[in-house]
Amino acid sequence: MALFKRRGFIWPSYDIYGGVAGMYDYGPLGFSLRNNIVDVWRPLYKGREGFVEIDSEYVGPREVFKASGHLDKFADKITYCTKCGAPFRADHLVKEYYDNPDTMTEKELEEAFEKHNVKCLTCGGKLGPVEDFNLMFRTNIGPGTSRVGYLRPETAQGIFMNFQNLYRYNREKLPLGVMQTGRSYRNEIAPRQGMIRMREFNQMEVELFIDPEDKTWPRFPEMADEVLTLLPNTGSETVTMTVREAVEKKVIANEALAYFVGTTKQLLVRCGVDPARLRFRQHMPDEMAHYANDCWDAEALLSIGWTEITGVADRGAWDLSRHGQFSGTDLSHFVKYDEPREVEMDKVKANYKVIGPTFKGKAKAVTDAIEAKTPADIVDGKLTITVDGEEMVLDSDKFNVVRVKEKISGERIIPNVIEPSCGLDRIFYTVLEHAYSYDEKEDYTVLRLNPEVAPIKVGVFPLMAKDGLDTVARELCEAVHTHRAEAYYDDAGQIGRRYARMDEAGTPWCITVDYDTLDGDKKGTVTIRDRDTTEQKRIRMDDAPAIIDDLISGKRKFSDL
Ligand SMILES: [Zn+2]
Repeated sequence: MALFKRRGFIWPSYDIYGGVAGMYDYGPLGFSLRNNIVDVWRPLYKGREGFVEIDSEYVGPREVFKASGHLDKFADKITYCTKCGAPFRADHLVKEYYDNPDTMTEKELEEAFEKHNVKCLTCGGKLGPVEDFNLMFRTNIGPGTSRVGYLRPETAQGIFMNFQNLYRYNREKLPLGVMQTGRSYRNEIAPRQGMIRMREFNQMEVELFIDPEDKTWPRFPEMADEVLTLLPNTGSETVTMTVREAVEKKVIANEALAYFVGTTKQLLVRCGVDPARLRFRQHMPDEMAHYANDCWDAEALLSIGWTEITGVADRGAWDLSRHGQFSGTDLSHFVKYDEPREVEMDKVKANYKVIGPTFKGKAKAVTDAIEAKTPADIVDGKLTITVDGEEMVLDSDKFNVVRVKEKISGERIIPNVIEPSCGLDRIFYTVLEHAYSYDEKEDYTVLRLNPEVAPIKVGVFPLMAKDGLDTVARELCEAVHTHRAEAYYDDAGQIGRRYARMDEAGTPWCITVDYDTLDGDKKGTVTIRDRDTTEQKRIRMDDAPAIIDDLISGKRKFSDL
């Protein structure tokens, strides 16, 4: 962490005022690295799967989060010291005694404090009652306090809010994949794990709307041989199997979910997460978020232990059915059958003999209103209808439920949602930790970042900042520096120190302009040095931009130069 701060990857926010726990700013190298990770993520979904990307609001009204369940369920258990008032996350206080303390109830946690004699970590005082602490940041929309708003706890809700628009944009077809990156907020009680628990964090989320009866995936065969390390919730051992085996053995619930677990592995490895320190852990049934049917977390082995960095969840129909119900909007998809089917169904029919004489001129409107209802609308034998804005409660003599045969061409269903959700900051931090390599004997640090995500691709140096070497090196730096290849000019200090600075920044290659560049039989050539092998080669200066481009894309290897 110290190196990442020193080199300008991340800085604690508001540091000159003492900082705020769980908040970090990205420095120049960090911001580039983070953007490069997004640039690996985007084509995997947008290019390969044809998904679309949107950008929605950060602040949302209360109704949204009432429907989504966040208002009632997005909470951690909190306790305050009765003596000094310090707040603590209750489950963290007992985590050495229990396997899954985050699933314990208030009462269980209070009893655990008694049993294990847990006291305030600050003053040793007695801990108070355990209660729910909602993790959303609350604010007001507009002046006054009449309209409560919340900073979004996940980017996903903005996609669900736009489902109708997106569905129409996609010509009312499923599957429909929608992506979004941006900030989300979680008012953590006591964030202590650096970038792993941030109060303001970056997400890369995909919501894939899919027919619940058809969770296959057309490109599945391409992913089928990808090997996964899985930790299913049925055991405590990891198992290694291909994506195909995981579906065939029903370890992962369906093709689409398994496909995107495979995609997630490809994404993480391409960004530089070490495959040997990566596994997918299935949530325990009692650990699943309130909206999830099945969920697999990508976990990376970090200095703090196995840590969740992204999740792939089958959210079922939770989101759209809740928002449909709470907003009164139709968020369904029409599945057209190949051929019309004859089905038997129960229908509500008006009892014309009673309706006519009772409602006279309104009989037609009442009949229509009754027959628009379904048997599910009958509550305690009564049916409530609205005619011309007037609500009527009808007794059972006004209608009948009859069994009819009907030809139907299709049905309306609520799409299910598969969600590969990435914690961008966590991937960023994992990439840095897994790239970090320190040679104790030499006291030398190298950040072995994958070229594709490395913030600076090439350092360009004159051997000495004189005799025209610096002029040539500056020109070369400009020639190499492109949108794809960020180049960095450095002429300060000994050449060895300059290499060391670039190695610490994770720069894969350095080019040096020396006296041979200017004169003699090697005129017009420069040396290029490889970070990971420290090997040096001479290349033609004019070829440098093309060579760097090929090295980044992997078209050429350094050993082939
Ligand atoms: Zn205390």
